[in-house]
Amino acid sequence: MRKTALVTGINGQDGAYLAKLLLEKDYRVFGLVRRSTRPSFHNLEYLGVASAVDYIEGDLTDEVSIFQAIRLARPDEIYNLAAQSFVGSSWDQPILTAEINAMGVVKLLNAIKELTPHARFYQASTSEMFGNSNRAGLQTENTPFHPRSPYAIAKLFAYWIVNNYKESYGMFCANGILFNHESPIRGKEFVTRKITDGVARIKLGLQDTIRLGNLESKRDWGFAGDYVEAMWMMMQHATPDNYIVSTGETHTIRDFLDLAFRRAEIKNWKDHVAIDPRFKRPAELFTLQGSCSKAARKLKWKPRVKFEELVEMMVDADIERVTQEIKNTANKR
Ligand code: NAP
Repeated sequence: MRKTALVTGINGQDGAYLAKLLLEKDYRVFGLVRRSTRPSFHNLEYLGVASAVDYIEGDLTDEVSIFQAIRLARPDEIYNLAAQSFVGSSWDQPILTAEINAMGVVKLLNAIKELTPHARFYQASTSEMFGNSNRAGLQTENTPFHPRSPYAIAKLFAYWIVNNYKESYGMFCANGILFNHESPIRGKEFVTRKITDGVARIKLGLQDTIRLGNLESKRDWGFAGDYVEAMWMMMQHATPDNYIVSTGETHTIRDFLDLAFRRAEIKNWKDHVAIDPRFKRPAELFTLQGSCSKAARKLKWKPRVKFEELVEMMVDADIERVTQEIKNTANKR
């Protein structure tokens, strides 16, 4: 029988890639979307799946709307991708971040427990929960957590409440501890996309400088399209568990800049980058590098897109998009 999935955060980067994957697997896909005066489905449109999703209005801070969404969708699988997902904003909006990223998950779990207790639940956990733990080696599922931002602290609460509902009520609940993953539809506030968008705009003469924080931070960057596949695989496994999803490689922001400017054939990137203390974190997180050996062993998952390919894919897409925007503006004149 055709399966039904409910995806929160469907308009985000991962929501769009996951919706595409589930539709390819013949799921009926419901997406929870916040009401907006200017609704935008551009990520789903970019991947060509916007019209294939059934939308339900709702908000993770509003318990009534969550109950209503589960009642309407009667999902077999629920993927909770909705979040205040930008670490930087979590210092400015710590309470909202906790309301969405922590309390929103309890509301969702309670609604599932009451209405569809046999549905499977995926929680978008994050490598940010590790903080600077085990800086010298690979982070594993057994590395102690030491969150360094209101975002990561709220996500850690969610991680534990998800485990707790699994243990307390026998629900199928899985945490995917995902390391950074990017794509041409990554939000422009995130450093990778800020760079590739900036590079495209510099190449096409619309901008001169990209303003960034700490260039020495190291991250384990993968491709979102690969990572949503791991989410789905966790939900198909016989037993619920928590898995790291990562590439096992780490690179500095400097490395990212180097590759991105080279791809756009712009020399001397240092002339186009300014360090701006506003973009440094109050509590810095230096190195993230995860071991995905458990996911490889138990789910047979492995990342396909390499770091260099990822940077090139993003730069190429942004150059194409900005070129199109310039043409559209010229045509309107
Ligand atoms: P994203 O592009 O920022 O998408 C987040 C989505 O959540 C948006 O569609 C947003 O809706 C929705 N949302 C925010 N607050 C909401 C609320 N109160 N009620 C309902 N929906 C709400 O994030 P992403 O990169 O796809 O990440 C997906 C999830 O994985 C997030 O939980 C993130 O924290 C987590 N994660 C991401 C990474 C990564 O590297 N990308 C790594 C680890 C974990 P609007 O469109 O209305 O704003």
